[in-house]
Amino acid sequence: MRTTNWILTAALLTSLSATAQQAADAQPSAQPPAPDAAQASQPAPSPAAPVQAAIPQPAVLPTPTTMDQVVNLFIEREHGLIKVLSTRTPVVETYLQNLTADPQLGPVPSADHYFLGRLDMGESVDRKDYLKEEEKGMQARLLGGFQKLYKVQYQPMGFSWMVYADRTDFDREHYDFHYARREFLGDVRCLVFDVTPRKNSGRGRFLGRIWVEDQAFNIVRLNGTYAPQPRNSYFFHMDSWRLNLIPGYWVPAFIYSEEGDFSAGVKNKVAFKAQTRIWGYDLKKGGKDDELTNIRVDSVTDESAAAQDASPLQAERVWQQQAEDNVVERLTEAGLLAPEGDVDRILQTVVNNLQVTNNIDLPRPVRTRVLLTSPLETFSVGNTIVISRGLIDVLPDEASLAAVLSHELAHIVLGHNLGSKYAFNDRMLFSDEGTYQNLGFKHIPEEEAAADKKAVELLKNSPYAQKLDNVGLFLKALQQRTPQLQALLTTHLGNPLAENGTVNRLTALATLGPALDNNKLDQIAALPLGGRVKVNPWDDKAEMVKTAPVAITSARDKMPFEVTPFFPRLARFGAGNTPAVVPAATAANSTTGGN
Ligand SMILES: [Zn+2]
Repeated sequence: MRTTNWILTAALLTSLSATAQQAADAQPSAQPPAPDAAQASQPAPSPAAPVQAAIPQPAVLPTPTTMDQVVNLFIEREHGLIKVLSTRTPVVETYLQNLTADPQLGPVPSADHYFLGRLDMGESVDRKDYLKEEEKGMQARLLGGFQKLYKVQYQPMGFSWMVYADRTDFDREHYDFHYARREFLGDVRCLVFDVTPRKNSGRGRFLGRIWVEDQAFNIVRLNGTYAPQPRNSYFFHMDSWRLNLIPGYWVPAFIYSEEGDFSAGVKNKVAFKAQTRIWGYDLKKGGKDDELTNIRVDSVTDESAAAQDASPLQAERVWQQQAEDNVVERLTEAGLLAPEGDVDRILQTVVNNLQVTNNIDLPRPVRTRVLLTSPLETFSVGNTIVISRGLIDVLPDEASLAAVLSHELAHIVLGHNLGSKYAFNDRMLFSDEGTYQNLGFKHIPEEEAAADKKAVELLKNSPYAQKLDNVGLFLKALQQRTPQLQALLTTHLGNPLAENGTVNRLTALATLGPALDNNKLDQIAALPLGGRVKVNPWDDKAEMVKTAPVAITSARDKMPFEVTPFFPRLARFGAGNTPAVVPAATAANSTTGGN
């Protein structure tokens, strides 16, 4: 029940916005999905969305009649993809949890690691890190004993390796390809091939299975490892997924890695699971879309300025707005902030609920934006509240969402404005990788305490007043996992939710609600990562996930704050853009199962 409320609101809001968008969006995207005429060679869709112009369309190839020809086609398509993406530098994030066996809960996190950087997809796939040197040093220390064993691969590069099967030698000279079967991945019919390196083809060759969609023969999924294993180091197993975000190409989006065996008698204690996400492929173009937004913002400012010079107070507000706009724009350019979208509508509804019931009347509206990264954090700059994707994911219900947003709303109401120095444009001139060194919105402890106090006041006057027990439960779950999830709780722009192993956000609410009991299946205190927000890796747009919650059948199903494998529902370009809203009945049914 608890989870459904929010999902339903979300579904309602997204269905509304979907209709609005269809009307506004003059571009009825692409072609209707070809009916099951799978063999019909599918020419790449040609209608012109702005993004398509710069990307060369693959040549339409003759329909293959043998599996041998299919192999030639997907090899050619893979080389085409490598070429098209060679100028791109998307953001790449890896979040890793080491695992230990818990007799009750199964494998649970014992420590965690976080990497964030830009992936240069040119000649040799390479990455640059956003994190500060001392943070990197910290990571190296945390790796401890593992570092030797995972000499190369524990470094961030290892996790982004499998964007391609083989960057340099994906061909028949180096590999054997064996057709296995047909299989649907989501809406997409695929041909499945086993791929094995040929004898003496060298080290670090892909060994595993690939899924190839059966219209243009692009690889959509790779699952396996690299072989042969070099001495003194180790290749991970990975499951790598691509999405058809632009016509003609499937771009790497998610990679799941896992190692570890907890069965009886196994001595090797090395175990972890990791999610790698790639996004921001189209970052360079993002700036152009922003021009329209800027013009709109300017005209709003003009109206209020009327015919006179601004009064001192007006000037101060315009100044703060300028700083806020600068920061929002810069973070979006750096690939860290999603453009305004569906998720913001839901966040703003919650903020609005808090404002209306507390009679908060601010000179400028409060806006919200989604930080695209996993670590749990919120911050505010001017009147914009920013909340991370990871935090939205793990929050169990709308009341808990309201609670974390209320802390930032309280900062705004109390006038704790930090960002005004960013109204000077020279302060925006830094490299994307330098974002965390150049921007920061951490409040002093006194302001943190004042904001928490005010937040509790706001919540008690709000529609969420009766549901604060859930918030208490979430904070207890967070406290339980805090010592093991240092990386997830390390904030990069705002104040941390926990420090020195103790949750320090909204502590007045932490005692509310029942005791945390992992065995109670109806007690969902926190969710796994990745269940709420879906990011489009090409344009960074964020939307709410529409899948119905699945019934929980054991305590091991809860997986609070944990990473899980990826299983995106694949769809062809254009076909996946129409959101399938979960009917209310389905959503209700599937949650009642877990009592
Ligand atoms: Zn704060």
